[in-house]
Amino acid sequence: MNCACDQANLCSYEAGLAQLIAAAQPLTESEKLPLADALGRVLHQDLWSAIQVPPMANSAMDGYAMRSDDVQLHTPLPISQRISAGAKGQDLAPGSVARIFTGAPIPHGADCVVMQEMASTHDDANGQTWVTFSQAPKVGDHINPAGQDVAQGAQVGKAGDLITPRLMGVLASVGFAKVPVVRRLKVAVLNTGDELVMPGQPCHDGKIYNSNLFTLCGLLNNMGCELISSTQVPDDPDTTRAALLAAAAEADVILSSGGVSVGDEDHVKEAVEELGELYLWRLAIKPGKPLAFGHVNGVPFIGLPGNPSAVLVTFLMLARPYLMAMQGRHSIGSQSYPIPAGFVRLRAGPRTEFMRVSLEVSSGHLAARLQANQSSGVLSSATVSDGLLIVPANTKVAHGDMLEYIPFTELGAA
Ligand code: AMP
Ligand code: MG
Repeated sequence: MNCACDQANLCSYEAGLAQLIAAAQPLTESEKLPLADALGRVLHQDLWSAIQVPPMANSAMDGYAMRSDDVQLHTPLPISQRISAGAKGQDLAPGSVARIFTGAPIPHGADCVVMQEMASTHDDANGQTWVTFSQAPKVGDHINPAGQDVAQGAQVGKAGDLITPRLMGVLASVGFAKVPVVRRLKVAVLNTGDELVMPGQPCHDGKIYNSNLFTLCGLLNNMGCELISSTQVPDDPDTTRAALLAAAAEADVILSSGGVSVGDEDHVKEAVEELGELYLWRLAIKPGKPLAFGHVNGVPFIGLPGNPSAVLVTFLMLARPYLMAMQGRHSIGSQSYPIPAGFVRLRAGPRTEFMRVSLEVSSGHLAARLQANQSSGVLSSATVSDGLLIVPANTKVAHGDMLEYIPFTELGAA
């Protein structure tokens, strides 16, 4: 599966992404979860409401319910009943009003509510309370009609919907206690490199801390994947093979970082080729040119570069949409927004660049400010950025040029 490469043997971002998505096979297994546990999961089936919401017309105000025709300004009407939220009123006696509270059902016979601020009351000698209105009501005033939120039989969720707090609220409003969700995608992460040590261990003699594992762990967690194993793999062919086989035995997808260049110590390529199939793409993107895709014993494999911000960008822009497609999500694109550049770039680059930027407002205008260090080995500039600004290949940038911007919040990287 080779990308459509140009003369420089580079494959465009769009072509690489399209191939990844085309290869994604969505999970089919599901589980039923209590609604409260379903946040961040993916709905497995379309869901329809068996009821209407609200189930009955109810009052939008504390006040008085009545027939609008019965009201004459400054002529008192007697209160015949009191209906609070959760209670069931009786049919409204003609020529009377019901004292009513927000959320209480409108009694049969009433067609409007007057808010209490527009009414005054007095008690007569028999203890009967009378109400006088300072404003004439219209039919329907301050009534939430039955079904105004959700009609009976309306679709409330689609297979592939991400379960957000908003959707959880809607599903609860129509009475779902449990919901069918796609089972969690199991991801195994391999971080390659003799130089890696884990935080907590001494770091000297040419070692560096394994930061990619933690970046990936956070990103996978944010998108509801289950990190089932993480292995630090030395630059050695046998260990690399063994780690890949172990990952393939339990994971739905294997993600690796590092070791996919063509140096003597990059063993991932050969090992995957031996155990399955591997396509090594040279993507026309920056950061993150080398990207490997294939399978190990039939289990999909994505080999990200090693450099920490190349890992961040390639995960967000390529691996994440692929994993979302495997999760059965129907919307896998990330929303971008046109934002004016707050910087100048005189030289056009040959690759699409995903630049770490922060948004700033100066003199009332929003602009994307470039982080000073865009090196693929520098991750810290990402923590003071708000998102990625996409500078297309072969494009110079002048102040104020509109460019596509994707916030980290949109990418599950906040
Ligand atoms: P590689 O693709 O293996 O040649 O790695 C490219 C660069 O990324 C090297 O400088 C590595 O030391 C660095 N690198 C690779 N893996 C990690 C990791 N897990 N955490 C931090 N840096 C890494
Ligand atoms: Mg390496």
